[in-house]
Amino acid sequence: MRPISFARATDVSSAIAAVSATPEATFLAGGTTLVDLLRQRVMEPAAVVDINRLPLAEIESHSDGGLRIGALARMNDVAEFPAVMDRFPMLSQALILGASAQLRNMATMGGNLMQRVRCAYFRDRHAACNKRRPGSGCAALDGVNRGHAVLGTSEHCIATHPSDAAVALVALDAVVEVEGPSGHRSVAIDDFFLLPGDTPDREHPLKHGELIVAIDIPPTPMAKRSHYLKVRDRESYEFALASAAVALEVVGGVVKQVRIALGGVAAKPWRGARAEAALIGMPATWENFAHAAAAELARADTSRRANAFKAELARRTIVRALETVGTSEGSAA
Ligand code: SF4
Repeated sequence: MRPISFARATDVSSAIAAVSATPEATFLAGGTTLVDLLRQRVMEPAAVVDINRLPLAEIESHSDGGLRIGALARMNDVAEFPAVMDRFPMLSQALILGASAQLRNMATMGGNLMQRVRCAYFRDRHAACNKRRPGSGCAALDGVNRGHAVLGTSEHCIATHPSDAAVALVALDAVVEVEGPSGHRSVAIDDFFLLPGDTPDREHPLKHGELIVAIDIPPTPMAKRSHYLKVRDRESYEFALASAAVALEVVGGVVKQVRIALGGVAAKPWRGARAEAALIGMPATWENFAHAAAAELARADTSRRANAFKAELARRTIVRALETVGTSEGSAA
């Protein structure tokens, strides 16, 4: 067994310095992913820097309707925060549906964005996996892949992104605030998740030593009428087969604004830009919802027998989620 050094940081700059000083060091927040991966020897860092004592757990509600969520805010605290429930219900719903109560009380928002894929081959250190060991192959391509992605995949990796909360955050155009050895930078959340392409081991644009310190959600009045729908094999403690985060503003029966993001079907939390473009200016009808959903899934890879059903499931999930918000009082005229 490889020895791992442990340090506990009390401020952001010392945490960044400690990780930056060791090439194979990593941050430890809630530990709900990292500790599993250490036990399975899928991740074998030389050093772990505990950041749980950093002052990054605050949730701030802004008077303009925006929100800043500290990276160490626990999932449950965010889900139950009044301004989240009131202004961004799809985020609250995604967080509640995303994990058991025990996990929600431990897992942090920053950690949620950084969680690793749930592909069984990634967690089996004896299996071929380009994400865990670049160049080793992908056992899922011809293996058990019913839960794998149909959008955004590559010939090197077909794993789905596991987060529910990230799907809602993508629909909300959130911004990830990062501190690092070179200072501060802001990353639009859609750019924060990388498609696998030729480098599936690179999941984020973070450089070594960079730390998520907060997630900003801009004012989004239409998100008051939003919904997160998650379809899965069983009703609790299960990852999405398909999910949709939607927000809809309908004026005079016509779609004025719409946000759509998908989970469980793509290699990253998937912004439904094609579906959104197909709906703007159209009557808020079931037929137009179905047409927009079909436009989004038109490029889905259905060549694998086991997971081809996800394209149709995702289409129906989008339509059902839009119907939920589009037929609410005051929305669809
Ligand atoms: Fe690894 Fe991705 Fe293939 Fe799974 S799908 S085995 S994570 S390369």
